[in-house]
Amino acid sequence: MTCVLAIDIGGTKLAAALVDDAGSILRSATRPTPRKEVMSALAALVAEVMDGGPPPQAAGIGCAGPVDLASGTVSPVNMPSWRGFPLREEVQKLTTLPTVLAGDAQCFALGEHWLGAGRGCTSLLGIVVSTGIGGGLVIDGVPLLGPTGNAGHVGHMSIDPNGERCECGGRGCVERYSSGPNMARWALEHGWSPGAASHAGGSARTELPPQSDHGGAAGHLEEAQADARTLARDAAAGDPVAAAAFQRSARALAGMIASTAAAVELTAVVIGGGVSAAGEVLFNPLRDALDDVSGLPFVRAVQVKQSTLGVRASLAGAAQLAWRAL
Ligand SMILES: [Zn+2]
Repeated sequence: MTCVLAIDIGGTKLAAALVDDAGSILRSATRPTPRKEVMSALAALVAEVMDGGPPPQAAGIGCAGPVDLASGTVSPVNMPSWRGFPLREEVQKLTTLPTVLAGDAQCFALGEHWLGAGRGCTSLLGIVVSTGIGGGLVIDGVPLLGPTGNAGHVGHMSIDPNGERCECGGRGCVERYSSGPNMARWALEHGWSPGAASHAGGSARTELPPQSDHGGAAGHLEEAQADARTLARDAAAGDPVAAAAFQRSARALAGMIASTAAAVELTAVVIGGGVSAAGEVLFNPLRDALDDVSGLPFVRAVQVKQSTLGVRASLAGAAQLAWRAL
């Protein structure tokens, strides 16, 4: 039995698995990402997965960014103890295996292309819409990583050169419109009262209670978090501001998708991450916006799909990366 070692490193969770060439997981384990001593935790996790299992032939790592593939180092935003950390070298020393590294969103795209919603498509853009927006490209069946591993940063494509300033320093970035926290921020600025619509009875046609500028609705509403999940529930329940936040987000995503499709001739787009869990609340306005924004026939032909692998996509992509290295 031949297999590879796949590792997925995020700000909240470490995951490792032995994966065969058909994508079957032979063994796997996860543990929370510690605040410090991350490498020790990763070493224990890798030992747990490898101990007693078939020996892997290579290791593939998907890690939260930024990554620098030229040097094999990572500086994950949510992991302050790793800055310029030589992850590829450390895992190579730990396992004595040929070791390859990519960004977690790039691994998401590769995983969905191999085993998920993008299976069989020629050229794919994978997008993770969550606290931020990450992306990865698989073009003509091959992952496009770029010289330093930063290809696919679609969250920081500008869809409005006159738009708002983004945290990255750019202007009018998609992330400023479509990430979970930015959608919630915009909705709050426009009078959204978190949880009010979905607590009001759930019918899509329910009359909304008067909205308060101070969130001073009934006490039980205070439990509702001002996040993308509550926003999705409220949009589904008919809250006009919550629905408008999803429409605004969808139009920004559509502009980015149509531009990327025009540049590299995508055939499919797969969207995952927490915000995509909103389902039709996001995908319906996204399809409408793409219909409006897209012109050329090959751009209009792009298929947009929801992730089918979910949180397992990056691990699958890390495994595929290792198989390719062999
Ligand atoms: Zn930006």
